[in-house]
Amino acid sequence: MPNLLFNFDNRFTRELPADTETDNTRRQVLSACYSFVKPTQVKAPKLVAYSHEVAAQLGLSTTACESDSFTQVFSGNQLLDGMKPYAQCYGGHQFGNWAGQLGDGRAINLGEAVNDQNEHFVLQLKGSGETPYSRTADGLAVLRSSVREFLCSEAMFHLGIPTTRALSLVTTGESVVRDMFYDGRPREEPGAVVCRVAPSFLRFGSYELFSARGDINTLRQLVDYTIRTDFPHLGEPSVDVYLTWFSEVCERTAELIVHWMRVGFVHGVMNTDNMSILGLTIDYGPYGWLEDYDPNWTPNTTDASGRRYRFDNQSSVAQWNLFQLANALYPLIEQAEPLREILTHYATDYQNKVQAMRAQKLGLNQYDESLQKELHKVLQLVETDMTIFYRALANISTDKGEQSDQDLFTIVSDAYYDLDSISKHDMTRICSWLRQYQHHARLDGVTDLARKKAMNSVNPNYVLRNYLAQLAIDDAEQGNFDLIHTLLECLRHPYDVDERFEKFAVKRPDWARDRAGCSMLSCSS
Ligand code: AMP
Ligand code: MG
Repeated sequence: MPNLLFNFDNRFTRELPADTETDNTRRQVLSACYSFVKPTQVKAPKLVAYSHEVAAQLGLSTTACESDSFTQVFSGNQLLDGMKPYAQCYGGHQFGNWAGQLGDGRAINLGEAVNDQNEHFVLQLKGSGETPYSRTADGLAVLRSSVREFLCSEAMFHLGIPTTRALSLVTTGESVVRDMFYDGRPREEPGAVVCRVAPSFLRFGSYELFSARGDINTLRQLVDYTIRTDFPHLGEPSVDVYLTWFSEVCERTAELIVHWMRVGFVHGVMNTDNMSILGLTIDYGPYGWLEDYDPNWTPNTTDASGRRYRFDNQSSVAQWNLFQLANALYPLIEQAEPLREILTHYATDYQNKVQAMRAQKLGLNQYDESLQKELHKVLQLVETDMTIFYRALANISTDKGEQSDQDLFTIVSDAYYDLDSISKHDMTRICSWLRQYQHHARLDGVTDLARKKAMNSVNPNYVLRNYLAQLAIDDAEQGNFDLIHTLLECLRHPYDVDERFEKFAVKRPDWARDRAGCSMLSCSS
């Protein structure tokens, strides 16, 4: 396979303790960071799509990606020289409760590819069959969830948001049975495998597990390994370095959540096993995008009653998760006060960052509390599309004279789902906010054009609206992958306006309001 050559440098398995048992039975794995496993062979793999950018980063040519070998390797059917597949052992807090050992139940890491810039990338197949961590499930993934993961990780990257990447999406030619809404109506769905790519797939839960088991030795090995490989700028591990490392994890997490809040992304399952130690968006499950601005919205049906993972709660949950990580690291540090200080700092750091981001979304030099608070309310008066609203707002001019309410409102009217439902009172309030906004923009003295350009560079025109992903899934399940390719292309330039893709920049159609997959999702993937 001459065109699929990788240099592998498998640091994780070389430097960290392996499970000594090699049979693939489901069990508790002690004193080890991973178990060696083999991906399951699949019947008839077919390449659906791949990411050119990820391929290029890995040094893969188009010919390589379109070769049969590529499909065989990234469906799990063939191993390349240097691949030594393994599943990671980790634990986690799920919905606020300690869940014990979880681990890669349907993810198999093939190895760490090193590119010509000496960057390391773990190649990981998601949906490649059972591992010792599969618990009661099958280790497989369905096309529906794989399309969502593939498209969204690439969309996030192009939005400028830290994320794990997706190299490829392959169907397996086999079916997988899923009870999508846990209502006793299982159906057969097409199986698929995504190859995810990231410098590391370590999660908060990776550290929590060893700490919870009192296995401080393995905990220290894993922390030292993480610092040496992924945070080398912090220097050699020591108690002080553990603290600066934890601060950096907090900072990266704050930055990540600010990005999610900027674009209206709701992760949906912010369990500690789904929190990347690198501050990447990881584990695309029942995530969703805010369409109408509803801070209480959660896309996850499992979370519908508690709404723990609702849009507006993401920073608090991230802090709660960081608190669990701090607890896990405590045995290595044995001082509560500095950990507490770092956690307190997270809250102020997040606050500063989110305020700066909110000012940027309005194209203003400074954050103004009352302007932002009123906007938060105005956006919730009637059903308002968050993405369209901010793009439209960039068209408000500061050098026009007196404008009537009607003229002002027309500029943002595209963002409203039901114009007829807006009461006179609400309309006056919206327009009054628009005037306040105009006033602030005028005071800043920035030209309309410059403000618009700045706003359009942080407020996307295209996001992976829930119904768009679902339309791509509907077609894919019928064997038509065109929409996946079109969306992938569109989402490569989310801040641009492209005539070809304007139909993706409009409000969610009415039929999608309550349709499964478009407004609510289950974890069953
Ligand atoms: P998630 O909700 O996807 O973050 O998964 C939580 C845990 O369940 C992780 O340990 C997953 O690897 C595992 N898991 C989820 N789905 C499956 C599946 N189909 N087969 C085996 N393990 C799974
Ligand atoms: Mg997970």
